[in-house]
Amino acid sequence: MRTLASQAGVNDAIVVNTCAVTAQAVRKATQDIRRLRRDNPDARLIVTGCAAQIDPQKFTAMTEVSAVLGNDEKLRLDSWTQLAGDATATGQVGDIMAVKTPAAPQIDGLGTRARAYVQVQNGCDHRCTFCIIPYGRGNSRSVPTVTVVEQIKRLVGRGFNEVVLTGVDMTSWGADLPDTPRLGDLVQAILRRVPDLPRLRISSIDSIEVDAALLEAIATQPRLMPHLHLSLQSGDDMILKRMKRRHLRDDAIAFCEQARSLRPDITFGADLIAGFPTETQAMFENSVRLIEDCGLTWLHVFPYSPRPGTPAARMPQVDGGAIKSRAARLRAAGQNAVTDYLDTQQGTAQSVLMESTDTGRTEHFAEVRFDTTQQRGTVVNVQINGRDGSVLLAAPA
Ligand code: SF4
Repeated sequence: MRTLASQAGVNDAIVVNTCAVTAQAVRKATQDIRRLRRDNPDARLIVTGCAAQIDPQKFTAMTEVSAVLGNDEKLRLDSWTQLAGDATATGQVGDIMAVKTPAAPQIDGLGTRARAYVQVQNGCDHRCTFCIIPYGRGNSRSVPTVTVVEQIKRLVGRGFNEVVLTGVDMTSWGADLPDTPRLGDLVQAILRRVPDLPRLRISSIDSIEVDAALLEAIATQPRLMPHLHLSLQSGDDMILKRMKRRHLRDDAIAFCEQARSLRPDITFGADLIAGFPTETQAMFENSVRLIEDCGLTWLHVFPYSPRPGTPAARMPQVDGGAIKSRAARLRAAGQNAVTDYLDTQQGTAQSVLMESTDTGRTEHFAEVRFDTTQQRGTVVNVQINGRDGSVLLAAPA
C-alpha cells in the first residue's frame, strides 16, 4: 500500500488498515482513527482493511475519515491514482466475494520488520460459525508457486533471512490453481528453488488439512522451522461441531503426535476461543486439557465476542464474567506451558533471528534476549544461559 500510494502520488496520507476478527479489534480501530485525526487535523485519513470492507458505512460516516478503500481496492494502483487525482474522493469498496484472483504485488520488505511475511493465499471458503473473516476477505484464492518463489528470491536478495508464509486459510492453498497442488508442494518448491533462504516458517494452519508433502517437509527439511501454529479453537467435540470446525479433539492430538514423531523437537502454538456460546464449564475444561494433551506451548487466547451476522452470535451466549475468567485461565495455563518449555532449553545451543539489536527468536519461536548488541535481521548462534519470565537469556556461542 505504501508503494502504490507513493507511485500514484498520494503523499502524506495516513492509512489505517483495520482488523475485524473481534469486536475489540474494531473498537480499537475507531479509537485509533479518532486519535490520529486529533493529532493530525489536516492529514488525509484513509481507512481500509477488514472492518472497512465488512462495514464501510460505519467508517464513511465518521467525520474523521477522508476516504474508505476495500480490501481488494487497497492493492490496486488505480484506486490510489483516483485518490491522488481528486482530493475530495471518498474511495470505493467493492464486492469482495466477486474477487477471483489474489492481488499479489511484489514487495521489497515490511518497514522495520526483521522477517518478511509473504501472503500466499487469501480468503476462505469455510464458514466457521463464529468467524467474520470470509466477509472481509472473500473466497479462497491462491498465489501461484512461480509468483511466490519470485517474491521470496527478491526478499532473500534484499537480505531477509527468514520468510513466513501467511494466508487466511493456508492449508487450502492450491485448490484453485491448475493441477491443484497442496501447501506441502509449495513449501518444498520454495526450499528447492530458493536454496539461499535460511529459514522458512509457516503461520497458522488447519491441522486436519495438512497434506503428505507438508508432513514430508516437516520430517526432512531443517530449513522449515520446527514450529507450527494450529487453528484449534476448542478442545471439546460438541463445541467444535457447533463451531463448524472440521476436526475433533482426537484429530488435533493425533496430528501433534504425528508431527512430533517426524520432528521430535517441534513446538506448537494454537488459537483457542474461551466462552464460545453454550460452552459449559466441563466443555471448557476439555480446552484446558488440550494444552497438555497436544503439548501446546504458545497460545493465542480469544475471549469469545459475537460478530454480528454470524450464526454463533444467535446461539445462547456465555456470561461475560465467565468468558473473561476462562480466557484468563487459558492464558495462565499457556504461560505455564511457555515457562516449562523454556526451562527445557537451558544450556542448549540455538540459532536466533535477531528482531531488534538485543532480542530475537529461536527456530522454535522462543524469545531470546542478549546483553550484547547484534545486528537486526541476522541469524546468530547462541548458548542459552538463563530465563527471565517468558524470555530466554543468551550469549553468542
Ligand atoms: S477456517 Fe478460519 S478464516 Fe475460515 S471461517 Fe473458519 S476461522 Fe474463519
